[in-house]
Amino acid sequence: MTELTHAIASTHQVFNQPLPLENYNAFHGDRMLQYWLRVFDATWADPRLMDFGHQVGHELLQAGFLANKHIPEFLPHDRFGHRIDQVDYHPAYHQLMQAAITAGHTHLPWTMQEPGKHVARAALAYLHNHADPGSGCPLTMTFASVPAIQTQPDVASRWLPGILSGHYDGSNKPWYEKVGLTIGMAMTEKQGGSDVRANTTVAVPVGQPGAGQLYSLLGHKWFCSAPMCDGFLMLAKVEDQLSCFLVPRWREDGSKNPIHIQRLKNKLGNRSNASAEIELRGAHGWLVGEQGRGVATIIQMVALTRYDCMIGSSALMAQAAKEAIWHTAGRSAFGRPLHLQPLMLNVLADLALEAEASLAISMRIAHALDNMQDAKQAALVRCATGIGKYWICKRAVLQTFEAMECVGGVGYVDENVCNRLYREAPVNSIWEGSGNVQCLDLLRVLSRESDCLNALMAELEAARGRHPLYDRRLDQTLAMLVQTESLEYAARHILQHLALCWQAATLLLHGEGWIAEAFVRARLGQSSLQFGCLPEGINTQAIVERLLVRIDNRTAG
Ligand SMILES: Cc1cc2nc3c(=O)[nH]c(=O)nc-3n(C[C@H](O)[C@H](O)[C@H](O)COP(=O)(O)OP(=O)(O)OC[C@H]3O[C@@H](n4cnc5c(N)ncnc54)[C@H](O)[C@@H]3O)c2cc1C
Repeated sequence: MTELTHAIASTHQVFNQPLPLENYNAFHGDRMLQYWLRVFDATWADPRLMDFGHQVGHELLQAGFLANKHIPEFLPHDRFGHRIDQVDYHPAYHQLMQAAITAGHTHLPWTMQEPGKHVARAALAYLHNHADPGSGCPLTMTFASVPAIQTQPDVASRWLPGILSGHYDGSNKPWYEKVGLTIGMAMTEKQGGSDVRANTTVAVPVGQPGAGQLYSLLGHKWFCSAPMCDGFLMLAKVEDQLSCFLVPRWREDGSKNPIHIQRLKNKLGNRSNASAEIELRGAHGWLVGEQGRGVATIIQMVALTRYDCMIGSSALMAQAAKEAIWHTAGRSAFGRPLHLQPLMLNVLADLALEAEASLAISMRIAHALDNMQDAKQAALVRCATGIGKYWICKRAVLQTFEAMECVGGVGYVDENVCNRLYREAPVNSIWEGSGNVQCLDLLRVLSRESDCLNALMAELEAARGRHPLYDRRLDQTLAMLVQTESLEYAARHILQHLALCWQAATLLLHGEGWIAEAFVRARLGQSSLQFGCLPEGINTQAIVERLLVRIDNRTAG
């Protein structure tokens, strides 16, 4: 009998399963990220990134799992029935926010003078994304709010010290009692999200009208993410003119500003982040910028959140590729290590190539942001961010799925980060201007702002002569731009071509030669964009090796 119990208890041994990819330094283990920091002048940030990378690969990775499992909870009232509109987060969420803000995610480019400061901050955002993309939402919005708030110097002088302090304070108290502040953004209404001019929320002056003055807002917002932020940039109409307001969660007399949370959305991904529906019942807010200049003011914030979507989706893809490579390197099938089998190598190398091309153009925009005093760089940011946002965020949905499939069944379950990466991927494409809106915006910019068209052309032409396949594709793409009668209908087709040319140009000009060669042959030399269809003769093993995470004793502990 005892023998039988023993036999039942020991049905099998677990073997041929890799160790989880954890307890490592996410910066030290990422040769691709280090390469692009070197290219774009940000190696001075290595010690900071080593420190943050260690946290990301250790405690923040675990915090990310906790924050996505124990999702935010909405408490409309306290136990005595007073309206409190509170959202409670798991401590792990606060830990993620605290670590990222302390490292410089929200403020570094606005407070440091070093060349490459945007590139260094992009690396922080990329690494943070490996731990938890959800908390990246308020971090991004806080970072991106700065130029818009600076439009109104009197408001800026009171708010920016807290926004740029490098401190996180997740407590529920008025902004003027806190050292560190976070900022959200609420534009989308039920009747129109992309078309913000359809907003029905109205604002009337509390006292004197005018820029910097206090207004009272009446209306709703259909999406308001991170509703425990200290203030929100919002759009509302003053005498039918769309205007931008900074709306604090608390009024200056210490009472709660009437921003009523109706409910939190149940979402496909982005679980650690709360996204609320709100009603504004006379909520006070300061007019930021001139009356009627709402879109022009808030677009400065939106432009940077679009750029962060590029970084975020590049990070999703890099992490997905790393997980796929790590997993297959630790598993055998049919008697051989999976990651060395030709067909799997083809898929893995392709996933890695996509991640690198995406990171390359994201870092190219960061570099341009570092050089905004140069009008050509500023023009490139204005047009190329939309191209990158459109293409990278769309490719991430497919790429994270393929990576999950490389990991197999265990990649599909909630305990595996691959599952989360896949669920997370679509949101970057939907928010901050969905795909078609990016396409239409780009056409508008290229037709109206000749400096943008020139900057983009200069970027693409600079790589001419480096590869015959590139030259041919560039000519085809330029020919599309002159077919003006069908531009809108063909906008996605055009954007795809522009994106592939720009990725190729960036790799040809700044990347490792063998990576550029592989990308050009894979993406410009054939029509298939399906993963795992690389042409013959590509050094797939070297490409995969580049993204195989190194864990050594120095950095693992
Ligand atoms: C998780 C999550 C969090 C969010 N958080 C926030 C937030 O904090 N603050 C905020 O303001 N918003 C937020 N949003 C809203 C988001 O920004 C909007 O959903 C988005 O801008 C699209 O607006 P919409 O949903 O009204 O779609 P619509 O504007 O109805 O668009 C639907 C589709 O039509 C396409 N489309 C629109 N116009 C055209 C056209 N002329 N030609 C062709 N196609 C077109 C769009 O590209 C889109 O694919 C959030 C959304 C999500 C999913």
